[in-house]
Amino acid sequence: MERMIKRREMLKLLGLSLCSLCSLSLPGNAHALAALIKPKSDLKETQVSRVMFGNILVSLTALSSDQKKARQAISDAFLEMKRLEHLMSMFRKESQLSRINQAAGLRPVKVDREILEVLDLGLQLSRETEGAFNMAIGSAMRHWDFIDKKRIPTEEEIQALSRATRFEDVMLDKAGEMVFLKKKGMQIDPGGIGKGYIAERAKTILLESGITSGLIALAGDLVLFGTKADGSSWRVGVQHPRRKGEIVASLDLTDCAISTSGDYERFFRKDGVTYHHLLDPKTLFPARRCQSVSVVSEKGSYADSMATGAFVMGPEKGMQFLNRSEHGEGIIIDGAGEITVSPKLASRIRFH
Ligand code: ADP
Ligand code: MG
Repeated sequence: MERMIKRREMLKLLGLSLCSLCSLSLPGNAHALAALIKPKSDLKETQVSRVMFGNILVSLTALSSDQKKARQAISDAFLEMKRLEHLMSMFRKESQLSRINQAAGLRPVKVDREILEVLDLGLQLSRETEGAFNMAIGSAMRHWDFIDKKRIPTEEEIQALSRATRFEDVMLDKAGEMVFLKKKGMQIDPGGIGKGYIAERAKTILLESGITSGLIALAGDLVLFGTKADGSSWRVGVQHPRRKGEIVASLDLTDCAISTSGDYERFFRKDGVTYHHLLDPKTLFPARRCQSVSVVSEKGSYADSMATGAFVMGPEKGMQFLNRSEHGEGIIIDGAGEITVSPKLASRIRFH
């Protein structure tokens, strides 16, 4: 197995004292903040932010000497994201994804290419993570309520739900472009993969519009391409999972995606216990062994789903999975706040 760089070793390497550093993670809703150095060329930064997907801040940045062109490109990218949201939302009754869920146990549903792509990758990840990432977690998510009612499912519900959350019961007919959920009550949930996929599509639209450098941020899912105006890499700040707004490390990145799954993003407290939105499919309760996982990948959909999967797997198995995969490298913060960085990322991370 490849050697991993533990925080302590990294600190030694940097010659810093232990107490000056804390654990690593990307922040909550604001998440990773990419800082732009003031452009030296005639390239200008155009940035537009909107709230989408319910309550997520989506921010698009494009570098161009022609700001009108940049604005148009960003506007086209937002349109494409809206189209995909309408296709994939679990919460819109008329979306294709909802129609698949409504037809669970009844009949297959004809779907568009994008849904097939997301499900194909999601199911692949489900197999590779031995079900830690679970494309069929939807019905369990629906029995929890992390926002309004702060609801925990009952024991009877959990028993019944375990039969409706088997990803092996999601049938994909790629040639026929059909999806069928074998059991009644099953629901697929794109929450752990869709934002990365959509961010990637936004990048494609910007590229097709002639933008050569940009940054797409959907809360904790980032896709970035090209360089900043002065030719340097994008700097992505990584926030402390227990201290809101505090950045503890940064990464210099170009042409890649980075996603974070953290236990501090969506949660509630009841009787002194914190319950968050990343469920261990084995128990259908929150996965407890990580505080946060960030994954850097060539593609948004991989970064997003691998971060969710590795988080649920826990620090050891999660890091083994990242080291095995050719699609991602990562930073894992375990339940005690200990940081592990995968070997290929070690040279690009800087602790603050
Ligand atoms: P966020 O949505 O906060 O950016 P993630 O990308 O990690 O964070 O996705 C969390 C979402 O993924 C949850 O809200 C839920 O919809 C879904 N989810 C929760 N547990 C799992 C799991 N074990 N496998 C796949 N998806 C999950
Ligand atoms: Mg994810």
